[in-house]
Amino acid sequence: SRRVILKDYVEGYPTEDHMELLPAADVDEAAAAEEGSVLVKNLCLSCDPYMRPKMARPQEQWYTEAYVPGTTITGFGVAQVVRSSLPGLAAGDLVSGVTGWEDYSVIKPPFAGQLTKIRPEDGLPLSYYTGVLGMPGFTAYVGFHRICAPKAGETVFVSAASGAVGQLVGQFARLMGCYVVGSAGSKEKVDLLINKFGFHDAFNYKEEGGDLAGALKKRFPDGIDVYFENVGGKMLEAVLANMKVHGRIAVCGLISQYNLAAGEKGAEELRARNLVYLISKRIRMQGFVEPDHKHLYPEYRAWVVPHIKDGKVVYVEDVVEGLDAAPGALIGLFHGRNVGKQVVRLANP
Ligand code: NDP
Repeated sequence: SRRVILKDYVEGYPTEDHMELLPAADVDEAAAAEEGSVLVKNLCLSCDPYMRPKMARPQEQWYTEAYVPGTTITGFGVAQVVRSSLPGLAAGDLVSGVTGWEDYSVIKPPFAGQLTKIRPEDGLPLSYYTGVLGMPGFTAYVGFHRICAPKAGETVFVSAASGAVGQLVGQFARLMGCYVVGSAGSKEKVDLLINKFGFHDAFNYKEEGGDLAGALKKRFPDGIDVYFENVGGKMLEAVLANMKVHGRIAVCGLISQYNLAAGEKGAEELRARNLVYLISKRIRMQGFVEPDHKHLYPEYRAWVVPHIKDGKVVYVEDVVEGLDAAPGALIGLFHGRNVGKQVVRLANP
């Protein structure tokens, strides 16, 4: 049995040296037996961008608690219950929720109580509970349908559009009757956007010679009504210049900013400098975090599962095998190595 720990706080880009695969101690039977705790065997782990800010020294500006160096990394995952002292969960049950980057985890309150029992009768891959049926899928749903408040016929732009969240925002926008364009960092991803996810158009932001505003102008001659923001920085600057009056921006993530070291030379150059457009164009720009909208999850699930079954919503995952591949997979998010939702498979039920 093994586990992955964070060795030290990260500044700048994370590397494999910031994490370490170690043998895990025997399961703490006393902790597992405590009232409200659950012992699980981990089956799938999710790699998510929010894990990067958790690797930094605790910062006042982030809403998630920092990891503690020397301890096991935690994140969303799918697991099978081995033993449970929590009413409603029994050995053999499949669950999704926050677990550890290790083969077996003792999940204590309050996280144990937040585990969601998976209904295998759906017949959908278990890994979907880290993606389309999990946190990223729900983020796409509330971020697009609630925060962007889109109307049929509007123009929508999505950045990091082939990723865990973006690929769904594009499909939800198309289903809603919007005109949707996405940006991504490789030809393979741009092909997926158009041919697999049904975006009306897409472009590789690395191949526009730095003229992102021009790339958007070409695709949105009359401007953008709705921007689903995953990236920030220079992309946000280009979008602001192309927004329509009364446009809406849902700020889901700012991944281009997560690895900027404090005081780094040139960092200012990587930030948007034209926020004045928010005023002149009366733009509504709103950040959101998915847990605030938890009560809507059943509504999302009831809506999306039939769409997946009918093939109206598809989901692309990038699955690596084994705990030793997990650190590299997580780091890969910040270099665009993942094609679709990044998952680490540890075991089958
Ligand atoms: P993805 O699956 O999209 O993976 C990250 C992708 O971001 C990479 O593949 C890469 O794609 C792109 N990227 C990385 N660095 C940069 C950069 N410097 N500039 C531009 N693009 C970059 O991740 P998710 O879909 O899971 O997350 C997308 C965003 O949503 C993130 O910002 C995340 O923090 C945020 N988020 C917010 C939530 C909330 O509740 N507010 C919940 C979940 C996610 P490419 O090859 O296209 O560059």
